[in-house]
Amino acid sequence: MHRSFRFLARRSIHTQRTPLDYDVIIIGGGHAGTEACTAAARVGARTLLITQNTDTIGEMSCNPSFGGVGKGVLVREIDALDGVCGRISDLSGIQFKVLNRSKGPAVYGPRAQIDRKLYKRHLQEYLKNYPNLTIQAGSVADLILSKGESENEHHAIKGKGAMSSVQGIRLENGQTIRAPNVVITTGTFLGGEIHLGLKVWPAGRIGEDPSNGLSRSLREAGFRLGRLKTGTPPRLDGRTIKYKGLEIQRGDDPPSPFSFLHKTVPYADQQILCHQTRTNPQVHQYVEQNFDQSIHIRETVNGPRYCPSLESKIRRFRDKEGHTIWLEPEGLDTHVVYPNGISNTMPEDIQLKFLRMIKGLEDVEMTMPAYGVEYDHIDPRELRSTLETKRISGLFLAGQINGTTGYEEAAAQGIIAGINAGLSALGREPFILDRSDAYIGVLIDDLVTKGVEEPYRVFTSRSEYRLLLRSDNADLRLTQKGYKAGVVHDSRWQQHEQSANAFNNAFLALEEMRMSVTAWSKQGILTPSQKLSESGILKSGMDIITRPDVSLDKLFSVIPALQYVDGSLRERLLIEGRYKPYLKHQAAEVAALKRDENLKLDVNLDYHAMTSLSHEVRQKLATARPETLGAAGRIEGITPAAMVLLMRHTRHFGRTSDIPPTATQEKKVKIISEAV
Ligand code: FAD
Repeated sequence: MHRSFRFLARRSIHTQRTPLDYDVIIIGGGHAGTEACTAAARVGARTLLITQNTDTIGEMSCNPSFGGVGKGVLVREIDALDGVCGRISDLSGIQFKVLNRSKGPAVYGPRAQIDRKLYKRHLQEYLKNYPNLTIQAGSVADLILSKGESENEHHAIKGKGAMSSVQGIRLENGQTIRAPNVVITTGTFLGGEIHLGLKVWPAGRIGEDPSNGLSRSLREAGFRLGRLKTGTPPRLDGRTIKYKGLEIQRGDDPPSPFSFLHKTVPYADQQILCHQTRTNPQVHQYVEQNFDQSIHIRETVNGPRYCPSLESKIRRFRDKEGHTIWLEPEGLDTHVVYPNGISNTMPEDIQLKFLRMIKGLEDVEMTMPAYGVEYDHIDPRELRSTLETKRISGLFLAGQINGTTGYEEAAAQGIIAGINAGLSALGREPFILDRSDAYIGVLIDDLVTKGVEEPYRVFTSRSEYRLLLRSDNADLRLTQKGYKAGVVHDSRWQQHEQSANAFNNAFLALEEMRMSVTAWSKQGILTPSQKLSESGILKSGMDIITRPDVSLDKLFSVIPALQYVDGSLRERLLIEGRYKPYLKHQAAEVAALKRDENLKLDVNLDYHAMTSLSHEVRQKLATARPETLGAAGRIEGITPAAMVLLMRHTRHFGRTSDIPPTATQEKKVKIISEAV
C-alpha cells in the first residue's frame, strides 16, 4: 500500500502528466485538507495535496486553540479514526483544560491552547513523510469535468442537469492534473473579500489571494452558492499588557491529551497562563458611535451567531455592561497575544483607541489589526453523507466551503471526504457515520439535510445521543469501524485492541459480579444500607460503581480481573456506570434511527411529480434530496404524513428508479397514505 512521498518545491511548474496521475486530489492545505489528504492516503489511494503555498499548510487562521465544548469531541473522534489534528495538537499544546468539568462527562470539552508555529511545523513535518501522499504548491483555477456518459472533456460544465464526473484539475499556470476523485477544501478563499473599516480588498486570508476561478467553476456547474462572513480579533504585543490585577486562567495539571495514543504531552511542565479582562460601557459607546466606519457589520450577509463580533455583541446585548476577553499567548517563544472575544472590523485607529479603554490594555500595542472576511460557500444540501456532491460524481467538498466555521468542524468533514474519496478510487464501499455513531455524523447530517443560514458550528445540544457520544469513548465507538474501512493503521489498531479488551474484560467482570446490597455491605464495599427495602436487591458491580457510599479500592481489589486496572481505565468504567441506566433507553432510540436510515431514497427522485405531497414539502425535498427516510424526516417542515407517503412510495417503486410514478401509481400511494 505504501508508496514513497514526494514533496514538490513551492510554486514549482511541472510538465503535463499522463492520464490519471493520482487516485485522489485534495485542493487546500487547511484543516479540512490535511485530514482529507492523510485519510485518502491511509485508505491506500495515491493522493496529491495541492495548495496555494506549502508554507501555510496547517495555518490557524484565527484562534490559537483546538477543541472546546462539542469541538473537543470532534477532535477525539478524528483521532479515533487515526486522523492528524489531535496528535499534532498534543505535540504543540501549551495549555490543556477540560471544559464543563462540573457538568458531567457527557458534555466534557477537551481543549488546548496551541503554539501556532509549532502546530504548523509539526504538521508539515508529519505530512512530508506520509506514505501515498505527494504535496505540491499551486493554485487551482478550474475543474476538469466530463458530462454524462460522454468522455468529452471541457472546463466546468456549462449545462445543468446531466450527471457529470470529475476528471481532474487545471492550475492557474495552465498545468492539468488528472484524477477521478477531487476534494475541494478551500475554506474562506472562494470569492474571498477582506474588510477592515471601510476598506475592502480581494483575499482569502490577510495577505493571501482569493480563489475566484474555482468559485466561478462551481457556479457554472450549477451549484447553489451563498455568502457568509467571519472575523478575527487584533493581535497584541504581550509586552505592553499590564497583567497585574487581571484574573488568571490556569490549565489542568496534569494535562489530558487529545490523542488516544498519548498518555502525556511534551510541554506538560511548561503550561502557560492565560488572563481575563472585560470590555466596558465606555468601549461599547465608542464602538457604537463608529458603526458607520465598518462595511462588515451590514446585516445582508450572515456571520457566526455563536462567535459574534464585538459589534454584534454590542448591538444584540444592549443591557450587558461588559463582555469577557481571554488574553491567550500564541506560543512559547512569541510575545503575540490573541484577545479572544473581540473580533471586529473597525478601522485600525479606532481599534487601538477602544483597546486602550480596557483594563490591562491601557498602553497596549497591536501587532496586527482585527479584520473580517466575506466568502462564497456551497449549499451543503448539494452533498451526500459521504460529502460527495450529488451533482458531479467524484467531486467532494469539505470544511468552511460547506458553510461551517472552526478548525474542528473542517477537520471532521475533511477526514470523511478523504476516506470516501479514497474508497471510491479503490472501488470500495463508502464510509458513513450516522447521528448515533458520532458528532461527525450529527454535523454532516445537519449540513446535508438542513443546509446553513449562518456559519455552522457544533454544540453538544445538536446531538440527541449525547450520553452516548462522549469524548472519553470516541475510540470505542469508531476505531473498529475505521479499521474495517482501512483508514486506521495496524499500530493504532493493536494499541486500541489492547485497551478495548482491558475495558471490556473489566466491564464484564463488574457486570457478572452480582450480589445483594447486604452482601456488598458485608464485604465492606458498600456502607450498610439504612433502607431495609434495598437490602435484598441484587446489584452488579457496574450498578454500584458510582454510588457515593461505595469503596472503589475495595471493589477493585475483590474482583481479580480488576486488580491491575489503571487510573484512566477506572475513570472510563466510572463514566460508563454513571450513564448505564440511560444508555439502555437510548439504545432503543438508536435502533429506530437505524431502521429509518436503512430505507434508502433515490436522490434523483422527481419530487415535483409527487403531487400527493404539498407544494411546500415537494420544494423542500427537491432542494435537500435526502438519501434516507430518516434524513427526510429531519428536514424542517416534513410532516409525518409526508414521511408515510415517502416510505410507501419507496417500498412500492424501489429506490433506484428515477422515473416519476405514473398517475395510477401516484393514486395508489395517495390511497395508502390516507389509510394510514
Ligand atoms: P482553511 O483553513 O481556510 O484552508 C483553506 C486552504 O485552501 C488554504 O491552505 C488555502 O491556501 C487553500 N486554497 C484556497 N484556494 C485554493 C486554490 N484555488 N488552489 C489551491 N489551494 C487553495 N473559526 C472559528 O471557529 N471562529 C472564528 O472566530 C473564526 N474566525 C475566522 C476569521 C478569519 C479571518 C478566518 C479567515 C477564519 C476564521 N475562522 C474562525 C475559521 C477557521 O479558520 C476555519 O473554519 C478553518 O480554518 C476552515 O478550515 P478549512 O480547511 O475549511 O479552510
